Amino acid sequence: MKITLQDAADKLKAANKIVVTAHVNPDGDAIGSTIALYQILKALGKDVTIYIDDKLPKNFVTMPGAEDIKRPVEGEKISADLLVILDTAPDRVGKVIEVCDAPILNIDHHVTNNNAENFLYVDATASATCEIIFYFSKILGVELTLNMAVCLYIGMATDTGFFNYSNTKPATFKAAAELVELGVMPNLVSENLERRTAHEIKILSLALQTTKLYFGGKVAGMFVDEKLSAQSDNTEGLIDLIRVIEGVEVAFLLKFKAKKICRVSMRSKTVDVSKIAQRLGGGGHVRAAGCTIEENFDDAKKILIDAIGNYMVEVNKISQADFNSDIELALEDVEN
Ligand code: 5GP
Ligand code: MN
Repeated sequence: MKITLQDAADKLKAANKIVVTAHVNPDGDAIGSTIALYQILKALGKDVTIYIDDKLPKNFVTMPGAEDIKRPVEGEKISADLLVILDTAPDRVGKVIEVCDAPILNIDHHVTNNNAENFLYVDATASATCEIIFYFSKILGVELTLNMAVCLYIGMATDTGFFNYSNTKPATFKAAAELVELGVMPNLVSENLERRTAHEIKILSLALQTTKLYFGGKVAGMFVDEKLSAQSDNTEGLIDLIRVIEGVEVAFLLKFKAKKICRVSMRSKTVDVSKIAQRLGGGGHVRAAGCTIEENFDDAKKILIDAIGNYMVEVNKISQADFNSDIELALEDVEN
């Protein structure tokens, strides 16, 4: 059932024991929104716990409050009055859903979230779940601390590509401006998030060399196979390097995660990649979406390129002839 933010506030105020969670493969928005809401609820005197069923990416481990995030253990049972799921529908929270069977309050900004069987507040115009939580704090009547502000800023900055993507709206800048007034230092946030070891830059250069172009240069893909992913699992920001290639409408990154588990990230300039991701069992936003393909790397590659190509034929972005040509162009073969 779709509810308003005021309804969501009423549900939280009526609950005492609350579990907050977000999606697996957590990003800045998932982590930032859970920590910020956790601290807001603590300020309201609630008994709150955060569970995320995954490792935190290295650059987020030092976020203020990240030390409070727990990982659910198989067979563990947590009783609560409310399970708050942020930045995803309930299908991507891993074991948290088995461990805590409380009624669900779902707050999200993904257009693909159609989770009608629970209480759902979804605002697909919000840049990030952190932007929703920023405005929600006003409804809840909690003044943001600097730690909360840093977390919310990180989520908005990461989901908007540092305020570059099309989801960056006046409301995003207004929220960010208030967060900076509270003491957030944008330069320190970006230094922390963008920091890479020399080894990671080496891996990044190897990943860049795997870039291939498809369908007359309208699609660009990067491949982090088993060997490459064993050397570094930090692929944050990689896809942005090829998203900018002139003429490219859809960029994707295919990454080996485990045997027969491949992760896909997609970014686009005009095509609705959430539709492609949904066909492959995933979801996301119009310009940024993802999915998991449970196949070996080469099969996943073929399935993904076919799905992108088919969709682009359907929406007249490429011709059937382009699709049939099946040409894979490596960067070194691109003419000046
Ligand atoms: P990323 O490429 O940064 O991992 O994800 C891009 C966007 O798509 C994010 O908003 C993310 O939450 C969403 N997304 C990524 N993978 C999946 C997935 O497997 N399922 C769903 N529903 N959304 C996903
Ligand atoms: Mn998000």
